[in-house]
Amino acid sequence: MKDNAVIAQTIKVRNPATLEQIAELTVASPADVAHAVAQARKAQAVWQSTSFAERAKLLYGLRDLLLDERDKLADVLTAETGRPRAEAYGVELFYLCDAIGVWAKRSAGYLRPEKIQPHFPLMWPKKVLTTYSPRGVIGIISPWNFPLTLTLGEAVPALMAGNAVVIKPSELTPLSALFGAEMAGKAGFPNHLLQVVVGFGETAEALIDHVDMIAFTGSVATGKRVMQRAAERLIPVSLELGGKDPMIVLKDADLERAVGACVWGALMNCGQCCTSIERVYVEAPVYQQFVDKTVAKMRAIRQGRSESEVDVGSMTSEAQLEKIEAQIAEAVAKGARVLTGGRRNPEFEGLYYEPTVLVDVNPSMSVMREETFGPVIPIMKTESAEEALKLANDSRYGLSGSVFSGSKSTSLKIAEGMQCGSVCINDSLVNYIIPDAPMGGLKDSGFGYRHGAEGIRKYCNHKTIVIDRFGLKEEFPWYPASEKKSRQIRHLLRLLCRSGWKNKIRAISGLARS
Ligand code: NAD
Repeated sequence: MKDNAVIAQTIKVRNPATLEQIAELTVASPADVAHAVAQARKAQAVWQSTSFAERAKLLYGLRDLLLDERDKLADVLTAETGRPRAEAYGVELFYLCDAIGVWAKRSAGYLRPEKIQPHFPLMWPKKVLTTYSPRGVIGIISPWNFPLTLTLGEAVPALMAGNAVVIKPSELTPLSALFGAEMAGKAGFPNHLLQVVVGFGETAEALIDHVDMIAFTGSVATGKRVMQRAAERLIPVSLELGGKDPMIVLKDADLERAVGACVWGALMNCGQCCTSIERVYVEAPVYQQFVDKTVAKMRAIRQGRSESEVDVGSMTSEAQLEKIEAQIAEAVAKGARVLTGGRRNPEFEGLYYEPTVLVDVNPSMSVMREETFGPVIPIMKTESAEEALKLANDSRYGLSGSVFSGSKSTSLKIAEGMQCGSVCINDSLVNYIIPDAPMGGLKDSGFGYRHGAEGIRKYCNHKTIVIDRFGLKEEFPWYPASEKKSRQIRHLLRLLCRSGWKNKIRAISGLARS
């Protein structure tokens, strides 16, 4: 059974936990996308003149409506992803509600004109400001792992900055974004300000051809294609791509906490988070204890349908499940041992993969190098903290990481040495759900930030305004040029830029003579 198939110009959405079809949607053609962006442009022209307070009021209205309709929203989310209901409330809706609060309160501050004090004294008579204005229409292209957070959640700062937004959700999970846009309409958002176009890669490419900026979240391979296409029109892109997040456990760590954080950090959303813990390096003295406790905790995980009281649901994508199977098979062929899991869960028909612990792994295995995106914890023994850090950094990815240690100074040193965009110390995953703190990747994990001041400024044109304060009839560098002016600038440069008092005194006497 393959992921949602293209049947003529429709998408058949199915529930990955049951494999039942739950919707059939019409694909937006390139012409439909062009029309949607043109309509969005008209809406944005009006929206950009609204105040931050007016925008915030509408967003609070949307938040209230989403909360009133939270059960329906959870139905949609669980049906298209296969995740447990608790995660629909506790992760996606929780994030969106908090993000709306953060952006509604902080956007005006983040986008207030900034005063700049020039460094060079000759520029002190100028008043310098940087201002932020909306880019226009933002295109958001999203993956399937968080169908609400990465669509509506990404749209909130773009809207607060005065833009219109057109979202192209994943073809596997388009229903949550459609539900969110419907709620925005009910909450009184202007027509066409927030739209959703449904489709595959062709629809996404058409979006890149028309909008003023693309915020892309997805795989490295698609991210590169997005950047190439955006280069044709020289529009900005932000790329939030994949990860292979390492966790380092040092010998002085609180093992109970480290194991709990590891299992949650690796299994939340069935391991399908960009910042899931994907590989674990444990110092030798506590390695065996860590492995035993992790296996015990993984065996106690309850997997099942979203309606029941379960910890972990199904995977969302058949193609992803096949990648996990291939990685585990390769690791086992190269000498890895499966201590628990390591197969599809035979109790269910849907896309269930058992929580899995692998040991005797090494960096040559794809399960330690490539994104797994599933409920798999490969654990490797290391001789020292330094070796663990070296292995953690031996990756083409650089999204997030975590370190567990009883020593604040050691863990901070490791955190600073990790080549990635964010690190949790004695914790996992939480950096994503703090919308006040910037989050982005290094290396193949992309560039650009979501969250924090950068998370909204990326949706703005930055403009520098320089204001003359004194209104002199002429300025020093203006025409006509003269011998005298050039002698003066020669001495001034030495006075202002050359180190050492003797040089400054010589420059002052030169200036006096000139
Ligand atoms: P994907 O790259 O296959 O698809 C992402 C989106 O791109 C989909 O909407 C898809 O339709 C669209 N697309 C397909 N072809 C395209 C093209 N030619 N041009 C433009 N868009 C095109 O990714 P996925 O499998 O849906 O998502 C999983 C990936 O997302 C993982 O690698 C995960 O790590 C990453 N991710 C990253 C973050 C982050 O913040 N860094 C967050 C969540 C997920």
